[in-house]
Amino acid sequence: MTRPTHLTIDTQALKNNLRVARALAPASAVVAVVKADAYGHGAQALVPILDADVDMFAVSCCEEALGVRRSGITKPVVLLEGCFEPTEWQLAIDNQFEPVIHNHNQLDTLRQAEHCSALNVWLKIDTGMHRLGFDMDEAVEVYQQLDALPHIGNIILMTHFASADDADPSFTHMQLARFEQIVQDLLERGQEPALSMANSACLLNWPATHKQFNRPGLMLYGLSPFEFSHPEARQLTPIMTLSSQVIAIREIAAGEAVGYGNTWRAQRPSVIATIAVGYGDGYPRSARSGTPVLINGQRASLVGRVSMDMITVDVTDIGRVNIGDPCILWGADLSANEVASWAGTIGYELITRLPPRVPRTLV
Ligand SMILES: *Cc1c(COP(=O)(O)O)cnc(C)c1O
Repeated sequence: MTRPTHLTIDTQALKNNLRVARALAPASAVVAVVKADAYGHGAQALVPILDADVDMFAVSCCEEALGVRRSGITKPVVLLEGCFEPTEWQLAIDNQFEPVIHNHNQLDTLRQAEHCSALNVWLKIDTGMHRLGFDMDEAVEVYQQLDALPHIGNIILMTHFASADDADPSFTHMQLARFEQIVQDLLERGQEPALSMANSACLLNWPATHKQFNRPGLMLYGLSPFEFSHPEARQLTPIMTLSSQVIAIREIAAGEAVGYGNTWRAQRPSVIATIAVGYGDGYPRSARSGTPVLINGQRASLVGRVSMDMITVDVTDIGRVNIGDPCILWGADLSANEVASWAGTIGYELITRLPPRVPRTLV
């Protein structure tokens, strides 16, 4: 018998989610964001599937981009954090990577780089998130400096939004207005760069941010970026299912505690199922008692602390449960976002940090 803890990746759902992304902005190119091993799903497997219907890929760094190339992909790959050291410029040119230029160090080393063939670059402007990008007041000047370099091909002007997933639109309106102002300033100087703003939340909820290149990540994997219900986000299907099985069942008396630290105590005679999944499998230790778990397709509640390899679930109210019964920790019928909300985090983090210990199957 092998341990039943398992990840299933639904490639049909992936294609569906990509179709949703395309339909939202049919005139835009889709830059599929596959950083962090395709948000933990396994880039090597997913990238070739996405390749048929996307225009470009985006990753964090050269190492990840080389991984995309090793999958046989020839489309451009954007480096979202750009080059970390001068030697990477040549690597980028040789492999058709398109680095983001977001600071003066990168600009200086790029200026001194001695290469003859053209490099497409993404110029990132900080419109309010204050993480990466040139200040707004230097945007036009930096753009013109880049444009004057003989070895620069296309320049794509980009920015990133801090709270496009927020129900309150005011900050996104402000960032959008700031970006549009820079575009206007460039236009007045006869420059008309291609633009890129939208992540998943923008693609779903902010048509004004749809430009030549959109950059969906999370939505391709089927999770909504929103905490509120959103009509288009409801068309997405989570492509990852984390599943396991019941490996023990016991009846305990009222007043008995369950798990490390006795953090949960039965208020009534209770049936407790032990499931073979824990924080060693990427299930968050911070998940609180009450976190939903699907057993035989029915919702039950996590009780007590999450162990390294196991969790305990109160199954008193869901009928007969047997050893070997199937459990789903998250998937199509129980969103990783919902589980995350019980663990003080977001779905992005849960899906991205599954350890290699958990075997994967593509269906
Ligand atoms: C990660 C990332 C994205 C994708 O964001 P999602 O919220 O996953 O759609 C887009 N743009 C940049 C710059 C990113 O770093």
